[in-house]
Amino acid sequence: MARILIVEDEEKMARFVELELMHEGYETGKASDGRSGLEMALSGEYDLMVLDVMLPGLNGLEVLRRLRLTSSLPVILLTARDAVMDKVSGLEMGADDYMTKPFAIEELLARIRLALRKAGQSREKAAARELSCREVTLNLDSREVSVKGTPVELTSREFDLLKTFLENKNIVLSRDSLIEKVWGFSYFGETNVVDVYVRYLRQKIDDPFGIDLIHTVRGVGYVVKD
Ligand code: CA
Repeated sequence: MARILIVEDEEKMARFVELELMHEGYETGKASDGRSGLEMALSGEYDLMVLDVMLPGLNGLEVLRRLRLTSSLPVILLTARDAVMDKVSGLEMGADDYMTKPFAIEELLARIRLALRKAGQSREKAAARELSCREVTLNLDSREVSVKGTPVELTSREFDLLKTFLENKNIVLSRDSLIEKVWGFSYFGETNVVDVYVRYLRQKIDDPFGIDLIHTVRGVGYVVKD
Protein backbone atom coordinates (compact mmCIF):
# COMPACT_ATOMS: atom_id res chain seq x y z
CA MET A 1 0.00 0.00 0.00
CA ALA A 2 1.13 3.52 -0.76
CA ARG A 3 2.90 5.62 1.84
CA ILE A 4 1.63 9.15 2.27
CA LEU A 5 3.35 12.08 3.90
CA ILE A 6 1.22 14.74 5.56
CA VAL A 7 2.87 18.11 6.08
CA GLU A 8 0.56 20.28 8.14
CA ASP A 9 1.16 22.35 11.27
CA GLU A 10 -2.41 22.29 12.53
CA GLU A 11 -2.23 19.22 14.74
CA LYS A 12 -5.98 18.47 14.70
CA MET A 13 -6.18 18.67 10.93
CA ALA A 14 -3.03 16.55 10.46
CA ARG A 15 -4.32 13.90 12.85
CA PHE A 16 -7.73 13.82 11.18
CA VAL A 17 -6.25 13.31 7.71
CA GLU A 18 -3.82 10.72 9.07
CA LEU A 19 -6.59 8.66 10.70
CA GLU A 20 -8.67 8.72 7.53
CA LEU A 21 -5.69 7.63 5.44
CA MET A 22 -4.84 4.84 7.87
CA HIS A 23 -8.45 3.74 7.78
CA GLU A 24 -8.10 3.44 3.98
CA GLY A 25 -5.05 1.25 4.51
CA TYR A 26 -2.31 3.75 3.67
CA GLU A 27 0.89 4.02 5.63
CA THR A 28 1.48 7.55 6.81
CA GLY A 29 4.13 9.95 8.04
CA LYS A 30 3.71 13.44 9.46
CA ALA A 31 5.69 16.63 9.61
CA SER A 32 4.56 19.89 11.18
CA ASP A 33 6.96 22.35 9.55
CA GLY A 34 8.32 22.98 6.07
CA ARG A 35 11.91 21.98 6.67
CA SER A 36 11.29 18.57 8.14
CA GLY A 37 8.51 18.02 5.60
CA LEU A 38 10.93 18.65 2.74
CA GLU A 39 13.51 16.37 4.28
CA MET A 40 11.00 13.54 4.67
CA ALA A 41 9.65 14.10 1.15
CA LEU A 42 13.19 13.75 -0.23
CA SER A 43 13.88 10.57 1.75
CA GLY A 44 12.35 8.43 -1.00
CA GLU A 45 10.16 6.68 1.56
CA TYR A 46 6.88 8.20 0.41
CA ASP A 47 4.67 7.84 -2.65
CA LEU A 48 2.72 11.08 -2.26
CA MET A 49 2.71 14.21 -0.13
CA VAL A 50 -0.27 16.19 1.16
CA LEU A 51 1.26 19.63 1.68
CA ASP A 52 -0.29 22.59 3.45
CA VAL A 53 0.72 25.98 2.05
CA MET A 54 0.68 27.90 5.33
CA LEU A 55 3.52 26.37 7.33
CA PRO A 56 6.13 27.67 9.75
CA GLY A 57 9.74 27.65 8.62
CA LEU A 58 9.51 27.11 4.88
CA ASN A 59 6.03 27.65 3.52
CA GLY A 60 4.44 24.96 1.36
CA LEU A 61 5.18 26.66 -1.95
CA GLU A 62 8.86 26.94 -1.07
CA VAL A 63 8.90 23.28 0.01
CA LEU A 64 7.35 22.39 -3.36
CA ARG A 65 9.82 24.54 -5.31
CA ARG A 66 12.81 22.90 -3.61
CA LEU A 67 11.34 19.42 -3.91
CA ARG A 68 10.83 19.82 -7.66
CA LEU A 69 14.53 20.53 -8.22
CA THR A 70 15.17 16.82 -7.84
CA SER A 71 11.93 14.94 -7.25
CA SER A 72 8.68 14.17 -9.06
CA LEU A 73 6.91 12.95 -5.91
CA PRO A 74 3.16 13.59 -6.39
CA VAL A 75 2.01 16.56 -4.29
CA ILE A 76 -1.49 17.65 -3.33
CA LEU A 77 -1.53 21.17 -1.93
CA LEU A 78 -3.89 22.34 0.80
CA THR A 79 -4.70 26.00 0.31
CA ALA A 80 -6.89 28.55 2.07
CA ARG A 81 -10.23 29.37 0.48
CA ASP A 82 -9.30 32.89 -0.62
CA ALA A 83 -5.70 32.21 -1.64
CA VAL A 84 -6.21 32.07 -5.40
CA MET A 85 -2.57 32.97 -6.02
CA ASP A 86 -1.39 29.98 -4.01
CA LYS A 87 -3.31 27.63 -6.29
CA VAL A 88 -1.97 29.23 -9.45
CA SER A 89 1.65 29.32 -8.31
CA GLY A 90 1.31 25.88 -6.75
CA LEU A 91 0.22 24.30 -10.02
CA GLU A 92 2.85 26.25 -11.95
CA MET A 93 5.47 24.98 -9.54
CA GLY A 94 4.49 21.39 -10.17
CA ALA A 95 1.78 20.50 -7.67
CA ASP A 96 -0.29 17.63 -9.05
CA ASP A 97 -3.52 18.84 -7.52
CA TYR A 98 -4.87 21.07 -4.77
CA MET A 99 -7.67 21.13 -2.21
CA THR A 100 -9.23 24.24 -0.76
CA LYS A 101 -9.80 24.22 2.98
CA PRO A 102 -12.22 23.26 4.38
CA PHE A 103 -12.66 20.17 2.25
CA ALA A 104 -14.57 16.91 2.35
CA ILE A 105 -12.21 14.08 3.26
CA GLU A 106 -13.81 11.88 0.56
CA GLU A 107 -12.67 14.33 -2.06
CA LEU A 108 -9.11 14.35 -0.74
CA LEU A 109 -9.08 10.54 -0.78
CA ALA A 110 -10.36 10.52 -4.37
CA ARG A 111 -7.68 12.97 -5.46
CA ILE A 112 -4.99 10.95 -3.71
CA ARG A 113 -6.11 7.78 -5.53
CA LEU A 114 -6.09 9.64 -8.83
CA ALA A 115 -2.63 11.17 -8.31
CA LEU A 116 -1.17 7.79 -7.28
CA ARG A 117 -2.68 6.12 -10.33
CA LYS A 118 -1.27 8.78 -12.66
CA ALA A 119 2.17 8.52 -11.07
CA GLY A 120 2.10 4.74 -11.46
CA GLN A 121 1.21 5.03 -15.12
CA SER A 122 3.95 7.50 -15.93
CA ARG A 123 6.46 5.34 -14.03
CA GLU A 124 5.49 2.33 -16.14
CA LYS A 125 5.80 4.38 -19.28
CA ALA A 126 9.21 5.69 -18.28
CA ALA A 127 10.38 2.20 -17.43
CA ALA A 128 9.30 0.85 -20.80
CA ARG A 129 11.38 3.46 -22.60
CA GLU A 130 14.67 2.49 -20.99
CA LEU A 131 16.92 -0.49 -21.52
CA SER A 132 19.61 -1.50 -19.12
CA CYS A 133 22.10 -4.21 -18.42
CA ARG A 134 24.57 -4.36 -15.57
CA GLU A 135 25.46 -0.71 -15.05
CA VAL A 136 24.69 0.40 -18.60
CA THR A 137 21.49 2.36 -19.19
CA LEU A 138 20.12 3.39 -22.55
CA ASN A 139 17.22 5.82 -22.92
CA LEU A 140 15.21 5.21 -26.08
CA ASP A 141 13.61 8.66 -26.11
CA SER A 142 16.56 10.91 -25.46
CA ARG A 143 19.04 8.41 -26.96
CA GLU A 144 21.29 9.02 -23.98
CA VAL A 145 23.56 6.31 -22.69
CA SER A 146 25.18 6.18 -19.29
CA VAL A 147 27.50 3.78 -17.56
CA LYS A 148 27.63 3.77 -13.76
CA GLY A 149 25.69 7.03 -13.93
CA THR A 150 28.24 8.73 -16.21
CA PRO A 151 27.00 9.86 -19.65
CA VAL A 152 28.73 8.25 -22.63
CA GLU A 153 28.72 9.75 -26.12
CA LEU A 154 27.92 7.25 -28.86
CA THR A 155 27.51 7.73 -32.59
CA SER A 156 24.11 6.78 -33.90
CA ARG A 157 25.40 3.45 -35.28
CA GLU A 158 27.06 2.60 -31.97
CA PHE A 159 23.83 3.46 -30.20
CA ASP A 160 21.81 1.19 -32.48
CA LEU A 161 24.25 -1.65 -31.98
CA LEU A 162 24.19 -1.29 -28.20
CA LYS A 163 20.38 -1.08 -28.28
CA THR A 164 20.24 -4.32 -30.28
CA PHE A 165 22.48 -6.04 -27.73
CA LEU A 166 20.37 -4.82 -24.80
CA GLU A 167 17.14 -5.87 -26.49
CA ASN A 168 18.58 -9.36 -26.92
CA LYS A 169 20.26 -9.93 -23.59
CA ASN A 170 21.71 -13.41 -23.11
CA ILE A 171 21.07 -14.29 -26.76
CA VAL A 172 24.11 -14.92 -28.95
CA LEU A 173 23.84 -12.75 -32.06
CA SER A 174 25.69 -13.71 -35.23
CA ARG A 175 27.47 -11.09 -37.31
CA ASP A 176 24.88 -11.57 -40.04
CA SER A 177 21.94 -11.03 -37.77
CA LEU A 178 23.60 -7.95 -36.22
CA ILE A 179 24.16 -6.51 -39.68
CA GLU A 180 20.55 -7.15 -40.55
CA LYS A 181 19.26 -5.53 -37.35
CA VAL A 182 21.63 -2.58 -37.20
CA TRP A 183 22.75 -1.83 -40.75
CA GLY A 184 19.67 -3.17 -42.53
CA PHE A 185 19.07 -5.63 -45.32
CA SER A 186 20.51 -3.27 -47.89
CA TYR A 187 24.01 -3.47 -46.43
CA PHE A 188 26.43 -5.15 -48.81
CA GLY A 189 29.75 -4.39 -47.17
CA GLU A 190 32.04 -6.63 -45.17
CA THR A 191 30.68 -8.43 -42.13
CA ASN A 192 33.76 -7.40 -40.19
CA VAL A 193 32.11 -3.99 -39.81
CA VAL A 194 30.43 -5.61 -36.78
CA ASP A 195 33.81 -6.39 -35.22
CA VAL A 196 34.92 -2.84 -35.84
CA TYR A 197 31.86 -1.39 -34.11
CA VAL A 198 32.01 -3.84 -31.24
CA ARG A 199 35.56 -2.64 -30.73
CA TYR A 200 34.33 0.99 -30.66
CA LEU A 201 31.71 0.11 -28.04
CA ARG A 202 34.24 -1.72 -25.93
CA GLN A 203 36.57 1.27 -26.11
CA LYS A 204 33.80 3.55 -24.85
CA ILE A 205 32.03 1.26 -22.39
CA ASP A 206 33.96 -1.83 -21.35
CA ASP A 207 37.48 -0.43 -21.11
CA PRO A 208 36.98 2.94 -19.37
CA PHE A 209 34.50 1.56 -16.84
CA GLY A 210 36.20 -1.75 -16.23
CA ILE A 211 33.20 -3.88 -17.12
CA ASP A 212 32.85 -6.89 -19.37
CA LEU A 213 29.65 -6.15 -21.24
CA ILE A 214 30.09 -7.57 -24.72
CA HIS A 215 31.36 -11.15 -24.90
CA THR A 216 32.81 -12.75 -28.00
CA VAL A 217 31.45 -16.19 -28.83
CA ARG A 218 34.14 -17.69 -30.98
CA GLY A 219 32.98 -18.70 -34.45
CA VAL A 220 29.46 -17.39 -33.83
CA GLY A 221 29.19 -13.77 -32.84
CA TYR A 222 28.59 -11.72 -29.72
CA VAL A 223 26.44 -11.72 -26.62
CA VAL A 224 25.64 -9.33 -23.80
CA LYS A 225 24.99 -11.10 -20.53
CA ASP A 226 23.15 -9.93 -17.45
CA1 CA B 1 -1.21 25.48 8.20
